[in-house]
Amino acid sequence: MDIVIRNGVTDQGTPIEVGVEDGLIAALAEGGLPAAALELDAQGGIISPPFVESHFHLENAYLWADGLINQSGTLEEAIAIYARIKQELTAADIRERTGRVVRRALANGTFWLRSHVDIDHISGLKILKGVAAAREAHRQQMEIQLVAFPQLGLARNPEAADLMWQAMENGADLVGGMPHGERDMDDAARHIEIAFAVARHYDADVDMHIDETDDPAWKTLELLADQTLADGRQGRVTAGHCCAMSAWDDADAERIIGKVRDAGINVVTNAPINLMLEGRGHHHPKPRGIARVKELMAAGVNVACGQDDIQNMFYPFGKMDPLEVALITAHAAHMGAPEEIQAAFDMPRANAARLWPLPDYGLAVGAPADLVVLDAPTPVAALRCQPARRYVIRRGRLVAETRSETTWHEPW
Ligand SMILES: [Zn+2]
Repeated sequence: MDIVIRNGVTDQGTPIEVGVEDGLIAALAEGGLPAAALELDAQGGIISPPFVESHFHLENAYLWADGLINQSGTLEEAIAIYARIKQELTAADIRERTGRVVRRALANGTFWLRSHVDIDHISGLKILKGVAAAREAHRQQMEIQLVAFPQLGLARNPEAADLMWQAMENGADLVGGMPHGERDMDDAARHIEIAFAVARHYDADVDMHIDETDDPAWKTLELLADQTLADGRQGRVTAGHCCAMSAWDDADAERIIGKVRDAGINVVTNAPINLMLEGRGHHHPKPRGIARVKELMAAGVNVACGQDDIQNMFYPFGKMDPLEVALITAHAAHMGAPEEIQAAFDMPRANAARLWPLPDYGLAVGAPADLVVLDAPTPVAALRCQPARRYVIRRGRLVAETRSETTWHEPW
């Protein structure tokens, strides 16, 4: 065999060795695999399938500089700052910053990344073409899906509606949307209808920014579920953010969550960004402003978590580490019991893989040898410490190795 990883555990704590040959997982055993050309020691850490970044924005990553700082901390100011500069983004600039994202994500064990790309009357298809070229440049390192994202509206911006069709011919894989950015719920319904017409024509999946507000009057998640059921697109639609449900009354939440489950809609919560941007207009007690993660999960809805933004006008932090996002999600959603910690650990792994979809996701003989060795023996240690990814193996090759070690000096 080419590689054997010894002395690892599954995320359930079962001892495991993994043998790799010709780019595939050739053997899984508790121990005793024959010697390989490359012997790796997991030192008791979890051997996991890679992470999936289910909601991100490549084109404005790392745009955090003088003149671009969001002083109010609101989503509205972030969108306004970005709209002011988006025309200046060049393909070379997008490619360079995408490269930084891809390297950080890959070092942290992320192999798949879904990015929403702005499509509007300001930038036309220019940004999409830049991000599509950046995707091509990094094709060996990361599988990137692009979502055509009409951030400035469709019902109130007919030019963007035309551009959505063109976007699907110019590199976009999925149809996006942001219906709560329209004037009212009637226009939001029109927004969703326009997007679904594009999705039907191209047989594309849909992934929308939904109710990214703490105003309970917005219930575009219900419109999305109704349209998904009417179109028979169960399992092919994802709703990101879903913040307003934190402010709905329980009866509305229960009714709409039931529809979301029936429609097979995946929910991606973006807790780091939502905790930063939502609730800004409130006095204490301030709302958390994130999706009702545990209620969604209890109802049988698939919930993943996404980084959304890294160091830009929307969010000053982030490090492309799904374990950090899962940890923040666990805090925001009150997930502290062992089974809840396991659920948070699964959000950027198996749960996010269902969006892609990646039907062969997981450790299995014959599957592609895509593996991440964590310097943590349990899910709680993985979230608590966000340890170095000791080894990252992509398509059967060791592509990254990270160590974090403390050197103690006298008198300690
Ligand atoms: Zn987003």
